[in-house]
Amino acid sequence: MSFKNLELIEPVMKALTAEGYINPTPIQARAIPFVLAGRDLQGCAQTGTGKTAAFAIPIIQLLHQQRQPKPGIKVLVLTPTRELAIQIEESFAAYGKFANVSHTIVYGGVSQVPQTRALKRGADVLVATPGRLLDLIDQGYIKLNQLEMFVLDEADRMLDMGFINDVRKVIKLLPEKRQTLFFSATMPNEIQKLASSILRNPAKVEVTPPTSTVDKIEQSLYHTNKTDKPKLLLHLLNEHNIKTALVFTRTKHGANRVVKSLDRLQITAAAIHGNKSQTARQKALNDFKDGRLNVLVATDIAARGIDIDELTHVFNYDLPEVPETYIHRIGRTGRAGLSGTAIAFCEIDERSNLRDIEKLIGKKIPIIDEHPYPHDPTIQPKKAEPAQGRNWGSQRRRVRA
Ligand code: AMP
Repeated sequence: MSFKNLELIEPVMKALTAEGYINPTPIQARAIPFVLAGRDLQGCAQTGTGKTAAFAIPIIQLLHQQRQPKPGIKVLVLTPTRELAIQIEESFAAYGKFANVSHTIVYGGVSQVPQTRALKRGADVLVATPGRLLDLIDQGYIKLNQLEMFVLDEADRMLDMGFINDVRKVIKLLPEKRQTLFFSATMPNEIQKLASSILRNPAKVEVTPPTSTVDKIEQSLYHTNKTDKPKLLLHLLNEHNIKTALVFTRTKHGANRVVKSLDRLQITAAAIHGNKSQTARQKALNDFKDGRLNVLVATDIAARGIDIDELTHVFNYDLPEVPETYIHRIGRTGRAGLSGTAIAFCEIDERSNLRDIEKLIGKKIPIIDEHPYPHDPTIQPKKAEPAQGRNWGSQRRRVRA
């Protein structure tokens, strides 16, 4: 299947060629015809599948084809984080550069003045995070009465991050008559209920459930000790000659500590997390994308949706307590058909997290035990291990068998 089969207009095709896109990804191939036909859509797809283009491309086309466009915001894209919002706006800029579609963006944590100025100039597409959007609606800077299309992006994350009530408030302000596109990586009950309440006879498009995406990524696991993790990280960065790596820690302090330990060893690293200013986060992200930084250390919320092409390595420096997070994290690599490597560290207290992850992905992560910082058997777990944990040795042997 090529983009030519999707009946895209010349200005869009030209932009896709300029981006170097040749074939649509599965979600694009399946979603674009429905959106162009005016249908509501429920898309189950995670970041990395090309879902942004799956909605941005047909939206640009529909806007471009309007004969007598009315003034005012016609499309609202609601997304949970500033980083995602920026990436989505960049996508509208890239795919829409020959189609004369205007766009702007609002998100919190920065001065609203440049945003309100841009809003006054007017835009067809508004990309927004929920809090700042509601704030600017309250202040009278944004009116959504001309809205024709609404995109809810990463709905499950909205729930995880506590934004779901804000999302509901926004939805109440939208005109009833509209086209709605709903995207979520997972569909827990509450999200399915929300989808059913706002979509009308939606086309449903689901691409590779997260667990099969994971199969493309080469995964490995290192049992080690909490205090040895910085050394193990450095060892692996050197041993595998890794140029760019995204490292996930559980806490903001943990992220700062990793950066400090890498700095001491003269590896350029920066942390992005909620305590950093928006400017600092964006700078770190740009430096990383441009290759000025080797290692980006992130917490889950800050890293959500980080879109870095050709990211080869993701480290689970700490194993997440929520097993789905593991899938989200390693999905930062192996994008757009490229291969990727995901390396996880597991200290003794994280073994129950590991079991939950392996249950979710339906397989054991291959263990590498030839390394200089193996688990020290004299270190006992702090939390009580469930019964299964005591058989760890035999479990390991089974994996390697
Ligand atoms: P997304 O899932 O929207 O975050 O997109 C993941 C990455 O895939 C982004 O870096 C896009 O630039 C890239 N991408 C999206 N669609 C295509 C395509 N059809 N061909 C090549 N790369 C793509």
